[in-house]
Amino acid sequence: MQTSISKLQEIDRKHILHPTTVPSVNAQEGPKIIFSRGEGVRVRDINEKNYIDGVSMLWNVNVGHGNEELASAAYEQMTAFAYGSQFYGFSNEPAIKLAEKLGEWAPGDLNNVFYTSGGSESNDTAFKLARFYWQKKGFTNKKIIISLTRGYHGVTVGAQRATGIEAFRDFSGSGDPNIYNAKAHLTNAEKGDTSDQNYASSVRSMIEELGSEQVAAVILEPIQGAGGVHMPPDGYLEAIRQLCDEKSVLMISDEIICGFGRTGKNFGVDHWGVIPDMICFAKGITSGYFPLGGVLMSDAIKSTIDQHEDVLAHGFTYSGHPSACAVGLKNLEILERENILENVISMEKVLTDGLKYLENKHKYVTKIRNKGLLAGFELMKDPENGIPFESPIQASSKLVEKCLSHHLIIRPFDFEEGMNIIAIAPPLIINEKEINEIIDIIDTSLTELESEWNDL
Ligand code: PMP
Repeated sequence: MQTSISKLQEIDRKHILHPTTVPSVNAQEGPKIIFSRGEGVRVRDINEKNYIDGVSMLWNVNVGHGNEELASAAYEQMTAFAYGSQFYGFSNEPAIKLAEKLGEWAPGDLNNVFYTSGGSESNDTAFKLARFYWQKKGFTNKKIIISLTRGYHGVTVGAQRATGIEAFRDFSGSGDPNIYNAKAHLTNAEKGDTSDQNYASSVRSMIEELGSEQVAAVILEPIQGAGGVHMPPDGYLEAIRQLCDEKSVLMISDEIICGFGRTGKNFGVDHWGVIPDMICFAKGITSGYFPLGGVLMSDAIKSTIDQHEDVLAHGFTYSGHPSACAVGLKNLEILERENILENVISMEKVLTDGLKYLENKHKYVTKIRNKGLLAGFELMKDPENGIPFESPIQASSKLVEKCLSHHLIIRPFDFEEGMNIIAIAPPLIINEKEINEIIDIIDTSLTELESEWNDL
């Protein structure tokens, strides 16, 4: 029996606590959209309304919606052997083959993987493995993890603490006390400070203050995503790599958004030729079709941990999930076979040109940025004089709502006073016409809002 739309709304409103949503709004109004179908860059809701997905849902549906090959890969694996664990020496073929493939995709000697079911689990795993690695090397005090302001690393106890966005970092007063947030702000780059060491200097002083004998690792996203799409200045990642080498600290690259072609390279760090000690991945590995994540680690880390003669007391029920890994493998095959990274590189210019057009035409649009298909821009009341919109105006949320009314999904970031950032990260299979459609909708939406904002 089919459940009516109003009934679905009612059940959701009453019985689901939504992630990263205002509970009182959902409890009163129910969900904004209930999705039912997707194809390519488009999704449809249960009222048969179509939208362009300008953010690949949560930056993850990289090969686009409705991909039957991924569905078939899941079906075939599920009917053969749906689930088995990697505990107690058990394994399965898709998990093994994917490990080999991941080694080919990763830079340097990051040939080894610990599987998880998502991004937060991957980061928490990386923190534990970093500490465990140092213990095994005889450095039992190296426990501290340093992360950056506006970094987003997830919501489990360690990842939450590493996240440099206050609301997440302090949610319900929980968190790992051995994780520190350096006041290293990628946005300094946007303020025109271009000396490489400057950006790394707050991480350096934090390591020196705490004592490198206490610090296990530095974690950062090569390009910050949920912090507002912040590009690192050239030299930044190299400086962090150098610093980590100098201080005997591991470098962890959180590639949960940047991985698997989002920025036009295999991983974000590849733009700067930097090889971290660990890479955390999730999202794009399966294009979101199946929950899967993991930590890639260097041969040195793997071989040190391999000397441990007792049980490795860490693991998830779904570590190395065969159906998830089969989807991951197929997804990488599609990315390679269809030359999707080449598409990202050619579409980068189209998207950047579109953003430039918006910036030239609309006086409130500023600070456009893009790498591959990971883009952002900001709204300011007076960009020339650096004057932001006042918070109650909710400029970025208003624009996102307006675009939604024109059937485009994009995302606002406004978690700091005066911050009005918009993120655009469409599926990597997008074409020129579809990018222009996105730009046209933003253009129209801005024109409609501008008369309101001009009266402020
Ligand atoms: N790291 C980054 C860079 C992310 O963008 C996210 C999710 N947006 C996470 C970690 C957390 O991943 P998950 O939600 O799968 O736990």
